[in-house]
Amino acid sequence: MSFNNILGQERAKKILENSIVRGTISHAYLFAGPEGMGKRFTAFNFAKALNCYTNVGDSCDNCLSCRKIDSLNHPDVGLIKPEASSERSESRGSIRIEAIRELQKRLSLKPYEGKKKVVILDAAEDMTTGAANAFLKTLEEPPGETVIIMITSNLNSLLPTVASRCQIIRFNTLSHEHITEILIKNYGFRREHASIVSSLSKGRLGRAVTMDYKAVCKLRSEALKLIINSMKGDIEYIFSESKRLARKGEVLPEFLDFIIDLLRDALLIHETETNDYIIHKDIYDELRGFSLKLKKQFIIDMFDTVYRTQTLLKRNVNQQLALDSMMMSMVGDYR
Ligand SMILES: [Zn+2]
Repeated sequence: MSFNNILGQERAKKILENSIVRGTISHAYLFAGPEGMGKRFTAFNFAKALNCYTNVGDSCDNCLSCRKIDSLNHPDVGLIKPEASSERSESRGSIRIEAIRELQKRLSLKPYEGKKKVVILDAAEDMTTGAANAFLKTLEEPPGETVIIMITSNLNSLLPTVASRCQIIRFNTLSHEHITEILIKNYGFRREHASIVSSLSKGRLGRAVTMDYKAVCKLRSEALKLIINSMKGDIEYIFSESKRLARKGEVLPEFLDFIIDLLRDALLIHETETNDYIIHKDIYDELRGFSLKLKKQFIIDMFDTVYRTQTLLKRNVNQQLALDSMMMSMVGDYR
């Protein structure tokens, strides 16, 4: 997989390609941006491009070096990621000082067979303070022929002294249209499907391509049902649904995003009655059906309620209570 296979991150690709071609490779890079943007993929491809026997500025995927890196068997390319403290631990763990010491030992040796020693530090923000401080020394005096690539989806929680010693490469979320086009062109999606999946991916291509369209549609009908039943004031539904949703845990933010998207479409239909900018074009009639029965301000208030609930849920509140309250606030004059 060469740089051409990294879709959408044109700026990041250009910077990395140019640094090899022009010989201005940094000792340390920091790839920063949300999850699902191709940071890990790009890091491995950069490692391949740096060591490729055939190409300059990109990988060939065929030479022995490229193949060894692909199968994680290259002696000069290493990956460090957070390890849980015990097998039973549910948290994703941290990068501990022992791992950094091991890395320093490896970096003190010359490359065995590659041109550059490359170390990829995944989830670098998960370094313990001890690890980060030890790592600072490596960043201050990097051994020759070494390239360190740190990856983070949370730049703010990285020690500023660490971040400031790296060249920061940002991975940005993509526009709705851009992801839709990529899904159609590169992944064979039908346009209507692509648009819906893209909407839910919130600009993260990695998330979009792993989504199951059928599951997405199921989630969407649940979201639509929630809006309508809440507006109707179906109390029995509200209390059983909040209980069910509270158990969903990780998918909950995504589910609320879906509700916001549907309300956005409903508002657009309410105001313009066209379907030009509608994301969920395939259920236009359903959306029109309820949006035209509502007052504009009521839809706006619902938006507000769902946004507020999203913020609340991030703060460790009782999820079921927060959802009850959200749906109760959505009860309106609807028949
Ligand atoms: Zn190669």
